[in-house]
Amino acid sequence: MRKVTLFPSLLLLGSLSLTTACSTTHSAGSATAAAQGATASPAAAPTVDPTRIKGLTIVNDSSNDRSCPWATSYPSVPGAEAATAAMKKDVDSYLADYLGTDAAGQSTGCGSGSGASQVPELNISFVFLVASGDVLGVRLLTQDHTGTGDGLSTKTYWYDGAAHAAVAASGLVADGSRPAFLAAVKAQLKQREGSDPALVAGLRAADIDDASFTSDGALKLSFDRGTVGVPAGGRMTVVLPRATVTPWLSAFGRRAQQQTVKPGGTLDLGATGTPTAAVPTETASGTDTTDCAKVKCIALTFDDGPAVTYTATLLKYLAQYKARVTFFTVGQNVAAHPELVRAEARAGHEVGNHSWSHPDLTRLTTAQVKQQLDRTSAAIKAATGTAPTLFRPPYGAVDAQVKAATTLSPVLWDVDTEDWKYRDAAKVARTVIDKASRNDVVLMHDIHPTSVAAVPEILKTLTAEGYRFVTVSHLRATL
Ligand code: ZN
Repeated sequence: MRKVTLFPSLLLLGSLSLTTACSTTHSAGSATAAAQGATASPAAAPTVDPTRIKGLTIVNDSSNDRSCPWATSYPSVPGAEAATAAMKKDVDSYLADYLGTDAAGQSTGCGSGSGASQVPELNISFVFLVASGDVLGVRLLTQDHTGTGDGLSTKTYWYDGAAHAAVAASGLVADGSRPAFLAAVKAQLKQREGSDPALVAGLRAADIDDASFTSDGALKLSFDRGTVGVPAGGRMTVVLPRATVTPWLSAFGRRAQQQTVKPGGTLDLGATGTPTAAVPTETASGTDTTDCAKVKCIALTFDDGPAVTYTATLLKYLAQYKARVTFFTVGQNVAAHPELVRAEARAGHEVGNHSWSHPDLTRLTTAQVKQQLDRTSAAIKAATGTAPTLFRPPYGAVDAQVKAATTLSPVLWDVDTEDWKYRDAAKVARTVIDKASRNDVVLMHDIHPTSVAAVPEILKTLTAEGYRFVTVSHLRATL
């Protein structure tokens, strides 16, 4: 993920393979056939079922500040600590750069690192490439909208469970084969319209930071905009067929290839004592008969989860007060932890849609908005048996185009706790207790332990004041 001038055409489409290079200029939010066409790539990598990764945690963080919006996520896989650390380092560095944080930790202004920006946004999401046998492969997708820094950057992280070591993209190729490998890569790049002869000639194996296998065993390299060609050339990919590349692969590269083509089953990186997080078993007793026309209601909402341990703790607190709330879940977290979403629904809470990877939907094309929402609704339905009817647009950013792209009903909020900013349970509790009034929708996040810790005090105090806690749909239906 080198800092280069990038292109806003491929927008955070989760597991879509990045085979498309664009060569025309698009403004953010314009339709791009390129991004849509990526779904039809014949060389797509097989999808990985994250529920098979024992002890998986998704590390989420976000800001809901409309003037400086950002959301980051990456997986933490037991046994692959070195790969997790490498991802964390890159995510932290990207975020510090975006926030304009200097070495002393002082903020110099959001998006200021990349020059003048209109509305900045940073979004980092991930895709599992391989999670099988002793091979883990993850791609991080970084969408950076900071003025001239607009665009997508990708990087792959490999982990060798046999050697207990993180492996760089170039480590898929054996040391002795790198000259032949590089020559083949350069030969392909030279043929590309928009490639820069000087950049191609200077390319070293260590510069290649995105490498993965296709389902038929070819090695696919992906280059960010501007790294091997003129910026207008867009992203570029090189695919080396299986027969060509196999003799050049390292021992780990061959195992990674094998586990991509024919996954051997459960991921085993040699982690000992992988903890399995407990899933709450609370079950709602019947339907909620609260009449919000007659009693004081409040709809607490929790965004960005589910999150391992925090969401489970929250469900326990809610059950103690028989409170029902609404969870606006992020699709990539739902896919990783459907059992938590199932527990939310089973306990009588409402599960809403908060997009797949938390981008500002107003920057996307209609097709991309649909992809973000439909994929998440499908994951929620797979987890709970029921498709959601509500969505909360990330950052509250919604316009006519976003609304027209979905049948889901948008839900904003009346009270913003700003709990993403104030990681202080007492302050969050006080904010809700002081600000919330009858029939308000309150915005919180269950990815922050401090927000979850604030909930008992909120429930205790407001229950004593006569409030009842209901879901957003219940509130709307009984008003
Ligand atoms: Zn959010």
